[in-house]
Amino acid sequence: MELPFAESWKIKMVEPMHKSTREEREQWLKEAHYNVFQLKSEQVYIDLLTDSGTGAMSDRQWSALMLGDESYAGATSFYKFESVVKRIFGMKYVIPTHQGRAAENVLFSYLVKEGNIIPGNAHFDTTKGHIESRKATAIDVTVDEAKDTQLEVPFKGNVCLKKLEKVLTENKGNVPFMVLTITNNTVGGQPVSMRNIKDTVALCHKYGVPVVMDSARFAENAYFIKTREEGYADKSIKEISLEMYKDVDGMTMSAKKDGLVNMGGFIATNNKEWFEGAKLFCIPFEGYITYGGMNGRDLNALAVGLEENTEFDMLHTRIHQVAYLAGKLDEYGIPYQRPAGGHAIFVDADTVLDCIPKEEFPAQTLTCELYLEAGIRACEIGYMLADRDPVTRENRFGGLDLVRLCIPRRVYTDNHMNVIAAALKNVYDRRKEIKRGVAIEWEAPLMRHFTVKLKRLG
Ligand SMILES: *Cc1c(COP(=O)(O)O)cnc(C)c1O
Repeated sequence: MELPFAESWKIKMVEPMHKSTREEREQWLKEAHYNVFQLKSEQVYIDLLTDSGTGAMSDRQWSALMLGDESYAGATSFYKFESVVKRIFGMKYVIPTHQGRAAENVLFSYLVKEGNIIPGNAHFDTTKGHIESRKATAIDVTVDEAKDTQLEVPFKGNVCLKKLEKVLTENKGNVPFMVLTITNNTVGGQPVSMRNIKDTVALCHKYGVPVVMDSARFAENAYFIKTREEGYADKSIKEISLEMYKDVDGMTMSAKKDGLVNMGGFIATNNKEWFEGAKLFCIPFEGYITYGGMNGRDLNALAVGLEENTEFDMLHTRIHQVAYLAGKLDEYGIPYQRPAGGHAIFVDADTVLDCIPKEEFPAQTLTCELYLEAGIRACEIGYMLADRDPVTRENRFGGLDLVRLCIPRRVYTDNHMNVIAAALKNVYDRRKEIKRGVAIEWEAPLMRHFTVKLKRLG
């Protein structure tokens, strides 16, 4: 018989987990004002808050840490890291930064001017923040298919070339670059096809506009190209990665995702002027250009992480696990955003808790119920996160109301996925008994979801 699937790693070091009782969780959640960001991690059994910086490093990465060179300038760690980045992405110039948003801050300080227009396939929130704080405008040019949660298409993160061309023709001379995000995080970790990457870059270049790749999950994107796009099945992840970046002008990277490290980021580019320009902002914001906010040991671990995570088996293990969880939810009839993305499952809370009015925040309520059920910490990506309209101060109920189950890399086993799915099923089965949601008692004027204080209704 054909041998079944198994993880491409074995476990050398373990971290004990803590279960709790429902009574304890009720008390803790109340003390946290029904906001899971306010929980202590030791009050959480399975933590699905984010896949950013929460992965497990390999034995090779831990040994690379010991060889870190902490010299202020010209450390061997920098040159090791730089050579890996050059080889994987084919870029000439590399600047380390302490995380992805720092890379954005440094590069955009040089590139973005007041009044600029910057199109992109659903800019990540920090990316948008770094554009808008410079009084420029981010315009979303993602394909419309991304909005339909139940539509099964292979590359839902793609750029709509028509929308992009419209922005480029209407804003000639005012578009310093376009941001291409792979995978498209904001629409649910959905990939962008190689065809679409090439067409997008060609279209931008036709208008003289450079392209910056927001690269947090570039390796997952390469995996989806290999497994879903015609002509790539026999290419390696490293070959596909090189091809994705072939004509791109620059990149910003949050290494906390596909770099397999707990903290780190970088900028890379082929454009000497960009490199010289960004360097001037790296030094005051991040530090000297051969460490840019990172320790030598962390640069070493990142060099190994990039190498490991561009191996097919590593990616297959991860994406297989996300798909496995999705399969369980299918079995139980629990609706989520389709198809399953690379790093997370987004449960459609508005449909699950359809008795709860929008004003009582269904996704926030479902997040609380999942924690109470089994100590699982998910993340609300819905009406709470959407904040209020800056002018009318009304809640923004126009978008989707989702609960994100984000899977850390190499941390949990499929048995944990079974627990997550079973806990969700238990909540789903008693959904008709959950008649009331939550109400806001206190909120910050901006980014309220991190600190909001809520009370349980009913
Ligand atoms: C996480 C992320 C960022 C920001 O990176 P940080 O390391 O969290 O600062 C930018 N873009 C995308 C697509 C991301 O997922």
